[in-house]
Amino acid sequence: MGNFGVYIQVPFCQTKCTYCNFHTGVVSAGRFSPYVEAVRREIAAHRVLFQAGGISWPVAAGCVDTVYIGGGTPSLLDPSLLTELLRAIRENFSCNWNEVTLEADPETIEPEKAARWVADGIDRISFGSQSFVDEELKAAGRVHRRADIYRAVPILREAGIRSISFDLIAGLPKQTGVSWRRSLAECIALSPEHVSVYMMEIDEGSRLGLEVLKGGMRYSARDLPSEEAMTEFYELAQEELGAVGYEQYEISNWAKPGFASKHNLKYWRREPYLGFGAGAHSFSGKHRWANLHDAAAYVAAIESGRSAVENVEGVTRESALDEELFLGLRQLAGIDLTRIERQYGVSLEAKVGRLELNGMVERRGDILRLAPAKLSVSNEVLVELLR
Ligand code: SF4
Repeated sequence: MGNFGVYIQVPFCQTKCTYCNFHTGVVSAGRFSPYVEAVRREIAAHRVLFQAGGISWPVAAGCVDTVYIGGGTPSLLDPSLLTELLRAIRENFSCNWNEVTLEADPETIEPEKAARWVADGIDRISFGSQSFVDEELKAAGRVHRRADIYRAVPILREAGIRSISFDLIAGLPKQTGVSWRRSLAECIALSPEHVSVYMMEIDEGSRLGLEVLKGGMRYSARDLPSEEAMTEFYELAQEELGAVGYEQYEISNWAKPGFASKHNLKYWRREPYLGFGAGAHSFSGKHRWANLHDAAAYVAAIESGRSAVENVEGVTRESALDEELFLGLRQLAGIDLTRIERQYGVSLEAKVGRLELNGMVERRGDILRLAPAKLSVSNEVLVELLR
């Protein structure tokens, strides 16, 4: 087995954003330390705990080459707790890190914290900017404002962070074509190495989504841009980011040359990763599994020496083929159709031919990829291919 990534989930936030459908909670700071201790214990005892959960992880696994600490808002933690988490990885795995990412929200960033993150080996910040328009940030229940973004970025640069990824959301309540253009322009002017643009998802897992579904007015539910407007926002991002040298390498991700996320590429390339913490997902090549989502239940399981794994699925030939298409095609580099057909003993000719006729996909030699103009409707393409 080659190298693999480690993901650590920190499921705590200062407030709950109205659109958030993640398993994160707002808890007192007193809960942070016991949680980190549980993650530390899970990492140290991972082989025994995996075995108890019915999973085998190869003894001869390679090195950890990427680490991603996500959430939630892991930058909320006292830096000494992040030091402990990173130390636990170093002490329990062979490590040859070439990318260590921390998700950080603008209002949580302070010079002392940033200096400590860099000293601990964190070299990439995934920065929760979301929008540069205060009215939109407020409507979405975000804690930070535009001024916090401008305060935080120089702190990160001065601390020595050379790779910053900005998150932007297309489709926030109160967003307009003019305000979206402004957010894109301000983001580009700050020259991050990487930009992620997420289309707003409305579902019953968030307060905003529930309000929309019942036709209510809370959380500015009536001020959401239309689907068509969101598609235009996405296409404008493609144009503006492409015009200044960002390369789109995945449906939601753009990078300056050499700055694509090494850790996230593992997900789309079906490379192995281990997840620790509440709700963290893992993939060994043979199995996918997930930990208990509830942070308190997770801590209780680990404290009592039980495995926190709640859901183990074997990867079958059929599910592996679906993943090759569904995950692989998210990358703009596309997939090697001939290799996949040979490896899985299938012909995808009929499905691909239909999509080609509709201009949804492009084929060059063995490589199949989503048509750049159809990326905003990519889900329809992927669903069609999986049918
Ligand atoms: S900061 Fe992120 S994880 Fe936390 S509530 Fe907001 S959207 Fe959800």
